[in-house]
Amino acid sequence: MKVKVAINGYGTIGKRVADAVSKQDDMEVIGVTKTKPDFEAKMAIKRGYKLYCAIPENLELFESAGIKVEGTVEELIEKADIVVDCSPGKVGAQNKPMYEKAGVKAIFQGGEKKDVAELSFNALANYEKAVGKNYVRVVSCNTTGLVRVLYLLDTNFGVEKVRAVMIRRVVDPKEDKKGLVNGIMPDPVKLPSHHGPDVQTVLPHIDITTVAFKVPTTLMHVHSLNVQLKEKVSEDDVIDVFEKEPRILLVSKDDGFTSTAKIIEWARELRLRYDIFENVVWRDSIAVVGNELYFTQAIHQEAIVVPENVDAIRAMLEMAEKEESIRKTNESLEIGRFQI
Ligand code: NAD
Repeated sequence: MKVKVAINGYGTIGKRVADAVSKQDDMEVIGVTKTKPDFEAKMAIKRGYKLYCAIPENLELFESAGIKVEGTVEELIEKADIVVDCSPGKVGAQNKPMYEKAGVKAIFQGGEKKDVAELSFNALANYEKAVGKNYVRVVSCNTTGLVRVLYLLDTNFGVEKVRAVMIRRVVDPKEDKKGLVNGIMPDPVKLPSHHGPDVQTVLPHIDITTVAFKVPTTLMHVHSLNVQLKEKVSEDDVIDVFEKEPRILLVSKDDGFTSTAKIIEWARELRLRYDIFENVVWRDSIAVVGNELYFTQAIHQEAIVVPENVDAIRAMLEMAEKEESIRKTNESLEIGRFQI
């Protein structure tokens, strides 16, 4: 028997989570929602998903556009074992009373405040804490990228403190209404950026301060990390730890990975929508000075949280232990198959 998953909000994250869930042998997508009958709604039907209307008052819009919907979001979630809420930031919190009323478990995304859920989640760092929970928030793309590497460094060498700079893609490729055409925007100007405190929602004991800048690109974020470790390590010790983790991908300038543009070009040949579910760490950037570790990583914001959503489903519905869930998710999404 497969568990029944509803996706509320078939946008950038929702469509990717739907496709990832469809690839699992222990879960199925019973429906996805859209607010309006645009090309994404048509694509959802084309890909075989049952389409529901996220805003009941908009049913007529779908009818007049000639797009068949199965019903409203309330009707969808009644049939679901779990909802993955992929609506825009802050809308998930507005949807929560509907999930509570229906008595259905729900996963929220990083655009929500941490108190929307019982737990802020990352599969590597705290899978076990999500077991059986009703409401879980998968932390944002930047936080997922930070938590994965910091969890590994902390469990292997102990982390004393972290100072990190986030260089953020300004918007996703499809977002033509927003943008920063010519400039570098400190965002926020005042320290810290929200990423450090967000890391602490998963790893509360980590001393971390982050600053963030937005730059005019849509492809990926880049993080420059400075991590003070408790143990003395060599660069090879760090590479060993990262190499063993399928959700970290090590690349090198010598292989032609000179920028995020080249990483995306490589992924275009491999994956649907050039999705990169892994942290992409430049092997050549890993440097140890005294007890301080430096490295640079790139994060594909549209994809990195997708495996975490799949693992959160298994944890909350008590379907598998941590290692088993991560292994299944990794295999189905070909994570870790392309170490370079
Ligand atoms: P998006 O705008 O691409 O998609 C959101 C979808 O939800 C759209 O299809 C929209 O029509 C729909 N929607 C609007 N109102 C709704 C409602 N009331 N109920 C249900 N659906 C509704 O947004 P996104 O980028 O996929 O972001 C979704 C969530 O994921 C946000 O919390 C965001 O912060 C988080 N997130 C986004 C990224 C990213 O880079 N895109 C990365 C990690 C996490």
